[in-house]
Parts: sequence; structure tokens; C-alpha cells
Amino acid sequence: MELLKERILKDGVAVSDNILKVDSFLNHQIDGNLMLEVGKEFKKRFENEKITKILTIEASGIAVAIMTALQFDVPMVFAKKKKPSTITGNVLTSKVYSFTKDTYYDICLSKEFLDKNDNVLIVDDFLANGHASLGLADLVKEAGAQLAGIGVVIEKGFQEGRSKILEKGIRLESLAIVESLETNKINLK
Ligand code: 5GP
Repeated sequence: MELLKERILKDGVAVSDNILKVDSFLNHQIDGNLMLEVGKEFKKRFENEKITKILTIEASGIAVAIMTALQFDVPMVFAKKKKPSTITGNVLTSKVYSFTKDTYYDICLSKEFLDKNDNVLIVDDFLANGHASLGLADLVKEAGAQLAGIGVVIEKGFQEGRSKILEKGIRLESLAIVESLETNKINLK
């Protein structure tokens, strides 16, 4: 997606050889117009699928997911990183390793919002080693729902996420792929 690539090159910061900071439009301040275009692009790429729900994980996936859900005219649901006291009854859970925080955390989703009749599109801001996306895919499986694919805004192509997702036979669409971040230079595919 050209608009996104231009924005990454203009405003992204390679903070190390493997971390890209995009706080000015995706992870802290959010550019709604860009997110709208991101949502339209996911709709285009998955238009042959009868998607019933968009699934993401809090917090950075939410903006991407809501814009995508609007394009498909379906609800968006996000997995929570801690089980709040307001979620009662049956929940779907999975354990996820956090790339940015170097710890494990549990994700949960009320069974009320995902079931066997759903065909789910998972979206997230970044794909690194695939833990977040595949944790979400576990929730879809646990719910007995169908998984149409995973859409990520920025894939870091030098990490393992893509191969792990494709290995499981899951379709992956990335809107921009970072090939390297060495010597503070962002190289896009
Ligand atoms: P994964 O689970 O694929 O290893 O990592 C993806 C998750 O970690 C994303 O949800 C994102 O929040 C975070 N993440 C991974 N790499 C980066 C990065 O380079 N920059 C930022 N801002 N977040 C990242």
C-alpha cells in the first residue's frame, strides 16, 4: 500500500535493528484518514470472503480493526490482555509472548462474541514473530469459528511471523513489509 509505505519512510523511526517506532500515526497518535485507507485496503484484499467479524488485540490493533469492520459492515471485537471482573461466564483464552515487553501474558475474549457461525478476519498493527496473531487464531479455533486470514499493517519481514502463519495454512496479507532496520535505516520491500 503506497500511501502507508510513504508514511513509514517519512515518519517511522528505526529505534534499533528490530524495532520500528510509528508513534506519530499508528501506536500513540493515530491518523484516522490513514486508518480509513487501511480499512479499505483490507476490504479489497479479502472481498471474496464472507467475513462476519473482525478480531484484534488491545490496544494498538483497535483503530485498525474498527476501520476495517466499518468497511465490511460487521462488528469488531478485541481480545483483552487481562480478564476484567466485568467479563463473567465462559471465556476463550490463550497465552501470548510479548515481543516488545519480553514477557508472557494471557489474552481473553468472552464466548458471547465469537462462535461457530463466524468467519473471522484477524487484524493487527505489527507482525514480528507471530505470537499475537497466532494467539488470536487460537481463540478463533477454540470458538469453533472459521478463520479467513490475518491482515497486518506492518510486517517485519526479517522475523519469523510470516513463516509461522503460512506453516499453519493461514492466509496472510501485509500492507507494508520492512526488510531491514539496520543502521537506523528503514528498508521496505
Ligand atoms: P509478534 O507477536 O508478531 O511477535 O509481535 C507483534 C506485536 O508486538 C504487535 O501487536 C505489536 O504491538 C508489537 N510489535 C512487534 N514489533 C514491533 C515494532 O517493531 N514496533 C512496534 N511499535 N510494535 C511492535
